[in-house]
Amino acid sequence: MSEEQQAHANLVVPAFRTEEEPKTQTQTQNGHGTVWRFGGSDKAAKASTVTLRGVIYMLFDNCSKDVKKTILPLGHGDPSVYPCFRTCIDAEDAVVDVLRSGKGNSYGPGAGILPARRAVADYLNRDLPSKLTPDDIFLTAGCNQGIEIVFESLARPNANILLPRPGFPHYDARAAYSGLEIRKFDLLPNQEWEIDLQGVEAIADENTVALVVINPNNPCGNVYSHDHLRKVAETARKLGIMVITDEVYDQTIFGDNPFVPMGKFASIVPVMTLGGISKGWVVPGWKIGWIALNDPEGVLESTKVVQSIKQNLDITPDPSTIIQAALPTILEKADKKFFAKKNKILRHNVDLVCDRLKDIPCVVCPKKPESCTYLLTKLELSLLENIKDDTDFCVKLAREENLVFLPGEALGLKNWMRITIGVEAHMLEDALERLKGFCTRHAKKTDTETESLEALKLSDNKV
Ligand SMILES: *Cc1c(COP(=O)(O)O)cnc(C)c1O
Repeated sequence: MSEEQQAHANLVVPAFRTEEEPKTQTQTQNGHGTVWRFGGSDKAAKASTVTLRGVIYMLFDNCSKDVKKTILPLGHGDPSVYPCFRTCIDAEDAVVDVLRSGKGNSYGPGAGILPARRAVADYLNRDLPSKLTPDDIFLTAGCNQGIEIVFESLARPNANILLPRPGFPHYDARAAYSGLEIRKFDLLPNQEWEIDLQGVEAIADENTVALVVINPNNPCGNVYSHDHLRKVAETARKLGIMVITDEVYDQTIFGDNPFVPMGKFASIVPVMTLGGISKGWVVPGWKIGWIALNDPEGVLESTKVVQSIKQNLDITPDPSTIIQAALPTILEKADKKFFAKKNKILRHNVDLVCDRLKDIPCVVCPKKPESCTYLLTKLELSLLENIKDDTDFCVKLAREENLVFLPGEALGLKNWMRITIGVEAHMLEDALERLKGFCTRHAKKTDTETESLEALKLSDNKV
């Protein structure tokens, strides 16, 4: 890693990067004639190619000191590194108190400690008609481990799973790792990013096991309506599949559409809810999340999915007992003021970006986000000279402006681009200024425009 990359390492997908391809041969001879009988496995090779890490590193590699501008890392987001997003004091105190009490020093049970499971059930029950008990809750090391456990529990030979496009790449990686065949349905940009339910029916078959909904939606930034979610539940019921819903952003909403938990429709179809405090409380480093089973008819029990989840939890690491023991206080004291402050900053950032984009015709945001920490834009490449696609756009932007955005292709959306808004406002001001300069330089010119642009350049030089 270069120095510049290291400075931003906390913003890159938080995992290691393999510098070299693993050796394919299983036996390597050293100078003393010993034959080493081991070698790295390539079990994760395929799954790891779909993560964002490679793309972000490649873009950082294209940034350079010669540009004489600070690197703006807006391709990937972890707002927790910025002081304005620091979590609430109640949450920090809860952890300190547990740490000092010595009550967080032991192993916990595979499913999680009872007070924490009860606290999650209470937290979710506030919005649910059919109530969860602590037995319906399983604690995981972040929401990501929830994804892993659920996928491992569903992966039977020939099974396939329906994932959204655009989506959250960890789903693709873990489905690939678990041997679940991935089938993609579209989210429709012209219909507020609703799920293309006809498309869902078209790709499902007798081996389909589940449909994944991300709500509030990362990366689109929409919040699904009650009506749409009911239709999703009815479609899943018709197909005989369960719904896995990722609600990790349930406390990161700054628009007008209210959040409706998918669990409301559990009387129609079994729903597995994945959640956590990483995004809402802006503490992804605390590594705690949960799986909640909304299943009043006991379908997940009779199909032995619950049993498989428990078995998988028995053989995987648990979230830290310290954080588990602090969770009841964190959830009970869910600090409305903190959420409001955080969401106000995000809303302000979105307004700022959308406002500046009005002056940049080749970068269009079709739907202003109302949740999460990203803004998806469509690139109008026909307005640009010599830009092949979204990746080419982002590479040149990194190279010329030290500005890193994520090409949409990494999320399954060719010729789109994702801008991180979970940063400080002045970074976005700077970024949009650079983006405008870049787009102006690369704009396709008509003859008359060429003349006036030349004039502009001349006047620029005078400044
Ligand atoms: C960040 C994120 C996760 C992972 O959450 P952790 O608690 O950090 O593991 C899962 N799903 C979505 C949609 C996310 O944006």
